[in-house]
Amino acid sequence: MGSTSERAEYDALIIGAGFGGYSMLPRLGLRVKLYERGSGPGGVWFWNQYPGARVDSDLPVYQLFDRELWEDFTFSERFPGWRELQSYFAHVEKKLDLRKDIEYCKNVESADWDSTRCRWLITCSDGTEAECKWMYLSVGSSSKTYVPNIKGSSDFRGELYHTAHWPYYGASLKNKRIAVIGTGASGIQVIQESGKQSKHLTVYQRTPNLCLPMVQRKLDPVEEQKKKDAGIYAEAFKKCERTPGGILYESIDKNTFDDTPEEREKFYQSLLKDGGLQFWVAGYKDVMTDQKANDAAYDFWRRMVLKRINNPAKGELLAPEVPPHPYGAKRPSLEQNYFEVMNQDNVDIVDVNRFPIEEINATGVKTAAGQVEVDMIIFATGFDGLTGGLTDIQIRGTDGRTLMQHWAEGVKTSIGIAVPKFPNMFYLFGPQAPSTFSSGPSCIQSQARWLARVVEKLENDKIESFEGTEASADEWLKMVGEKWDATLISKGKISLPVLLLWSKYSLLAQLVVGCEYSRKESSTPELGRRTAHLYANA
Ligand code: NAP
Repeated sequence: MGSTSERAEYDALIIGAGFGGYSMLPRLGLRVKLYERGSGPGGVWFWNQYPGARVDSDLPVYQLFDRELWEDFTFSERFPGWRELQSYFAHVEKKLDLRKDIEYCKNVESADWDSTRCRWLITCSDGTEAECKWMYLSVGSSSKTYVPNIKGSSDFRGELYHTAHWPYYGASLKNKRIAVIGTGASGIQVIQESGKQSKHLTVYQRTPNLCLPMVQRKLDPVEEQKKKDAGIYAEAFKKCERTPGGILYESIDKNTFDDTPEEREKFYQSLLKDGGLQFWVAGYKDVMTDQKANDAAYDFWRRMVLKRINNPAKGELLAPEVPPHPYGAKRPSLEQNYFEVMNQDNVDIVDVNRFPIEEINATGVKTAAGQVEVDMIIFATGFDGLTGGLTDIQIRGTDGRTLMQHWAEGVKTSIGIAVPKFPNMFYLFGPQAPSTFSSGPSCIQSQARWLARVVEKLENDKIESFEGTEASADEWLKMVGEKWDATLISKGKISLPVLLLWSKYSLLAQLVVGCEYSRKESSTPELGRRTAHLYANA
């Protein structure tokens, strides 16, 4: 570590220029700097440039809620694509004059707590050193990609990409023989595009995606302006802060079997009709707690899907008779023509549970079902979610152990925002918070607003060091565990990559505690009291 004089000194350092960083930066009235690994803003939307990449939370709620940002920017689609999301971030940066406080191409490698001076000492991969009193990790849930370790990947002589690292100059899918591995949100989107353009497509599926119709539409700027003038946008943003998922809909106050089968069928149909995530989050209130209710929802979903597939073998792979997990235990993605693409004659599905991938070789992908010759392999295998981006930085707390070491036995946090033994450090949109089971911007803005107030108070009170106690983390973990166990999610086959196996509890937090948290956050004094109690040490 260099001498103090060689280091840039800040009151606060923010890491990451996605929604988290852009929510935090304008709110901190301190000497603040934001470091971002990419060469531009957007976070996951800076990197996500694969064909078909678009958000699956609908507008207007997938944006920052400040009037000055939405009054003169209108998205052109209900579910905007990555290019428009990048333009949006450029708009925010310009409008709030953020650029002067941002350094791009700064990849933070380590952060060490100096207990004597109560400062974080930061090192970047280009040798830059900085120190700060407050450190905000806004690295997002999807910053560390996950690529399964498949024998022979480096022998492949064709094109090989991960969706999160699509070449910025583009890569044509046209008339190619393509293999896609993974059927999460990114997989669904890239499969739809590949299906349109490729000569042949082979999809390697582990878990079928119980996806829902997106129902994309263009937004008419004149109509959107009228909505803004009539206060509909402002009202929508207010509402998002009060619903469990941070979106405009929430479950109805009725159980599944309160309705007759006919009423139920009609209600389910109405949820699918307008598209989006309504079938998942705006249905009966017992769908995630009562197995029979969940089975009824799955049965309806399956019938709707099977109508779109004329090949029974494909139908059983895409919408099996026995559900792969309780409906909604994994976030369903949104699709535009996914089942029609999968139904095409030039598209094959390989069930990797039955035929695991044995190797990738020079010319293609080999499973027990045979060798498939391809020109391009696309890994749509997602991320080392939630914890990966945080533990990837060598952060050493008061006892000299890294965050990775602390979480080796299980994730423990103070209200999903801080970690004991890591003073003056906060993270946004991470484990044991609403995160991926909520709309990102809603969750993040609530956290950022609250965190800005906490630090303002600590600064006013001249507090140098502030950390969550072990007792507070135990209490949070217990509550998270109880909520988790009360849902069907705990009974599902939740298989998220690698490090998520540490953070079983984060999934619960995302869903149920997440709901609780969002509600409480909307009435800040209540959350404030709760947190004051949790941060008893401060
Ligand atoms: P993901 O949801 O984690 O999906 C990864 C996929 O890869 C899953 O289908 C997984 O199967 C599969 N997989 C992993 N290892 C595999 C292996 N060894 N063999 C075969 N398949 C394997 O990742 P993602 O789709 O990139 O999405 C990541 C996050 O970003 C999600 O929270 C998603 O909602 C969000 N996202 C949102 C949008 C959007 O808003 N439109 C777009 C992209 C991503 P299993 O299911 O069996 O694990």
